[in-house]
Amino acid sequence: MKEEFIAKKKIILTGDRPTGNLHLGHYVGSLKNRVMLQNEGNYDEMYVFIADTQALTDNFNNPKKVRDNVIEVALDYLSVGLDPKKVTIFIQSMVRALPELTMYYMNLVTLARLERNPTVKSEIKQKDFGSSIPVGFLNYPISQAADITAFDATIVPVGDDQLPMIEQAREIVRSFNNIYGETLVEPKAVIPDNEVCRRLPGTDGKAKMSKSIGNCIYLKDDSDTVKKKVMSMYTDPNHLKVEDPGNTKDNPVFIYLEALSTDDHFKKYLPEYKNLDELKAHYEKGGLGDVKVKNFLYEVIEDILIPIREKRKYYEDNIDLVYKILKEGSIKANSKAEETLKKVKKAMLIDYFD
Ligand code: ATP
Ligand code: MG
Repeated sequence: MKEEFIAKKKIILTGDRPTGNLHLGHYVGSLKNRVMLQNEGNYDEMYVFIADTQALTDNFNNPKKVRDNVIEVALDYLSVGLDPKKVTIFIQSMVRALPELTMYYMNLVTLARLERNPTVKSEIKQKDFGSSIPVGFLNYPISQAADITAFDATIVPVGDDQLPMIEQAREIVRSFNNIYGETLVEPKAVIPDNEVCRRLPGTDGKAKMSKSIGNCIYLKDDSDTVKKKVMSMYTDPNHLKVEDPGNTKDNPVFIYLEALSTDDHFKKYLPEYKNLDELKAHYEKGGLGDVKVKNFLYEVIEDILIPIREKRKYYEDNIDLVYKILKEGSIKANSKAEETLKKVKKAMLIDYFD
């Protein structure tokens, strides 16, 4: 009965860290899905938030970077087509219930469990924390569980590096409900159907495209910057001469085409090939140069980024409107999270004066 009640609502929630501008990895891994879900309209509530509290866990000594990027990420959201009329866009630190929920959830998770999280593990390595890992950083999967459960989110569209976080949130929900009674809703991750979109590599071909590494093509990059980045992208190092057979599998140029190009792009910019399969076959056989493929990739990226840039320009010129959207969204998110906090405190028997 309770289960039925809980499963009735479809609530979508996702966030991004304001550690830099959003890039093509965000676009294919999560933003595109969010805009699609938003436009399909098949949901009860949708929340998108800027995770400044989480960004501070590994940028605590650089508050200006986080503050500046809050507005940058908001501009990125609006420019890809997230619509504040349909989606509540808010800033994490404006929602006071979140750290309080985090505090209660911390009792339900062991240190060993946090240390086992594979995404956190690789981020600790990448950030060179050594043995000086800030408690707040190690704890961020728990704070992420608070973000998700505060809104009763059922669907969380993410890239695959976030799967361990959703799993951690599900464990917290189960544990909480077991101990204190059915209160929280279990979320589900939604990852892109297209496998290459789940973890887009960087332009260096090495790791995932990530703002902390800087191997990114940003949604706000201008045409010249995109051109330069595409032209200097890593490809197959053994494909030295045009006539050499090339490898398309670990080649980020082809991975990006797999993630971004459509048959229409071929019609428009490279009509001598019907589709990506034909282009790949030619490259693998030999006789197709990297410059030609990169020029095509540049056109494909431009096709996607031109309308995004135009929208961004509108909001940059109306920056007061962006602040208003964030403020209104934060107020709305705050009252929703307060409701959850009330339920949580009641379940935990710490609702003394209600
Ligand atoms: P940071 O380096 O600060 O962690 P990031 O580039 O990893 O930044 P996040 O804000 O951590 O970006 O991620 C926001 C969302 O975008 C998450 O759902 C994440 O899975 C997704 N995402 C990030 N990078 C990629 C990528 N390269 N491919 C697919 N999805 C991605
Ligand atoms: Mg990240």
